Amino acid sequence: MIVDVHTHLPTHRNAVPDSDRTTENMMRSGDNVSMTNSIADYLRAMEPVDKTFAFGIAPRPWLSERELIEGSGDLAVDGKNHNDVAAELHRAAPDKVIPFMSLHPMDPKMNDEYDRAVGDLGCKGIKLGPNYQDFDPVGEDAFKLYARLEADGLPIVFHQGTSPMRDAPLRYAHPLVMDQVAIAFPELRIVMAHLGHPWQVDCLAVVRKHPNVWADVSAQFYRPWSFWNGMQLFHEWGVTQKILFASDWPVTVPQDNIDGLRGLNKFARDHHLPGIPENEIEGIINRDALDALGVE
Ligand SMILES: [Zn+2]
Repeated sequence: MIVDVHTHLPTHRNAVPDSDRTTENMMRSGDNVSMTNSIADYLRAMEPVDKTFAFGIAPRPWLSERELIEGSGDLAVDGKNHNDVAAELHRAAPDKVIPFMSLHPMDPKMNDEYDRAVGDLGCKGIKLGPNYQDFDPVGEDAFKLYARLEADGLPIVFHQGTSPMRDAPLRYAHPLVMDQVAIAFPELRIVMAHLGHPWQVDCLAVVRKHPNVWADVSAQFYRPWSFWNGMQLFHEWGVTQKILFASDWPVTVPQDNIDGLRGLNKFARDHHLPGIPENEIEGIINRDALDALGVE
């Protein structure tokens, strides 16, 4: 089974009109990424995988009109938010898409939205991006949310590592910060996205010591040295079994990540570098993230 633990939401229910199309070229260091996509675009990209976690990112309550990564399409209108869109995407492919909520710990209505997202919409976990959302991941508000999630057995996918967004504080997404969260909440299941890039070594130091903390391999392959280097470090430290498969769609599609992982040893050979055992690479691609994270 292949599980993609990191996918963002499409913006449009149906085909994207030309007038709505937008692209972005910072996230992939110069490559264009389509920021407007339909539900069909999403499902086509997800054909190689069996299950996906799908989520938005809750906006800062003091900037609630602003959409973060989702762009502006026709899905989140008429009072619907990103959590409704995750639920709608699930209804489009109920055997594949597992909806995750996103909340903001400083939103005064957070607990009501938590109840609605889990109770009414069926969300099975949460995505948080403390840098994008501008909250302190080891602050009092965030800790209240983690306590609820830990008690309810719901996993968190955390954005980790850098981002090109200028007003997203890097210190809120540095992987070493997750150590403090995992010490305080030992039963909380955590996914550290992007191997914490470009701080993969700090990410491995955290996942290595905490049984319930995992890393996701999304959006690594298009920086081949950084990818090989990060993966080699995880291999040397004996923690590739803590890496989960992910794409960060729409930034990349799952097939490119599968190909990138399987191409690591060609890169190593071409550059006279040490390889990474094939069984460890296949282990990442085929890891049962539902079991690892307790998602039913
Ligand atoms: Zn992402």
